[in-house]
Amino acid sequence: MSAAGTTMTPATVRCPLPWCGAENPPDADCCVGCSLPVRGYAVLSVYPAYLFNLGLSAAREGRLGAAREYFAAVVHWCPADTEARNALALAAFQLGDVSEARRQWEQVRQRRPADPLADRGLSLVAADPG
Ligand SMILES: [Zn+2]
Repeated sequence: MSAAGTTMTPATVRCPLPWCGAENPPDADCCVGCSLPVRGYAVLSVYPAYLFNLGLSAAREGRLGAAREYFAAVVHWCPADTEARNALALAAFQLGDVSEARRQWEQVRQRRPADPLADRGLSLVAADPG
């Protein structure tokens, strides 16, 4: 994981226990307020963003199949992440999977009716009914 220093490290990690909520350094093993082990939680909380960045890199390198898998994982984890869902739809479209692209863009539009990327995507799909 060469990107660990940048994409995997949040500024601080807030303790997930509501009655504690202490801000911890990103490399803390245990919460400074309550000693809860927070390292795993910190990794999990940034993991979708990490996967999303891997997907963007793969897409930039033309590895669309890999990009699609990364974006699909993010969407599975964070169904409300419309940015990842738009990226997933575009990767599917570029791979020729028009029906999957349409399905994902329609889901973006259900969550964000005015989303410009979903609008543009659905007009691409409409022009290519395959
Ligand atoms: Zn705590």
